[in-house]
Amino acid sequence: MELQINNLSKTYSNGVQALKDVNLTIPTGLYGLLGPNGAGKSTLMRILATLQEPDSGTISLGDIDVLKQKNEVRKTLGYLPQEFGVYPKSRAEDLLNHFAILKGIADRRARKEVVEALLKQTNLWDKRRQKLGGYSGGMKQRFGVAVALLGNPKVMIVDEPTAGLDPAERVRFLNLLSELGENSVVILSTHIVEDVSELCTRMAIIDQGQILIEAEPIKAIEGL
Ligand code: ADP
Ligand code: ADP
Repeated sequence: MELQINNLSKTYSNGVQALKDVNLTIPTGLYGLLGPNGAGKSTLMRILATLQEPDSGTISLGDIDVLKQKNEVRKTLGYLPQEFGVYPKSRAEDLLNHFAILKGIADRRARKEVVEALLKQTNLWDKRRQKLGGYSGGMKQRFGVAVALLGNPKVMIVDEPTAGLDPAERVRFLNLLSELGENSVVILSTHIVEDVSELCTRMAIIDQGQILIEAEPIKAIEGL
């Protein structure tokens, strides 16, 4: 599976050119999109997640035309927004079960298995009966990943997830993304160099809506 972005541009109604002719090929693996605040990362992530329209350009995911076949994309893509809204009074297990129903996993036993597997994968199984309001930042982010993984996406989009995580949580979270990258396209947007230098297999640097460098992290960071 490969995500191919061609000549993507987006200008907001206030005249801000958030993306300027972006071209990227994103293969399976953990892919870092590094850039400062305002660089255009969230705009690109929302467009990839079919939540926003570009002005021009094309995006393909294997055989799927991402900008045209939105329903196909949504079936195969998981998105973890920058601020994952949580429901403080819900217990993790119950809420994940609820999202699984919404995702169309109708069979009760199948749903139970999926929920259990995802809570174990994200290291939340021991905390499954806790209310989300009592979760730490890292636990909330991992719960967000569990939700995004419902339906077994082939592409996972994670926007600035490590802001507000303590160092141990950050490492644990990045390791989880790296594991997911073994079988899927995982795109991590961040302004923190260490997020991409440690575990990403490839990366791009974006600034003022333009891709400056696309390379393996060691080469990209040397070029800065
Ligand atoms: P990043 O995620 O890298 O911080 P964004 O994609 O959020 O960058 O923003 C890129 C630029 O577009 C910034 O200048 C931002 O202020 C502007 N921008 C983002 N969203 C909107 C919007 N809805 N309307 C107008 N300008 C926006
Ligand atoms: P980011 O940290 O990703 O740049 P922001 O905090 O800039 O996010 O933006 C948060 C929300 O506000 C987003 O939905 C974005 O589209 C919107 N937004 C950002 N900049 C502007 C802007 N200049 N005008 C209108 N909406 C904006």
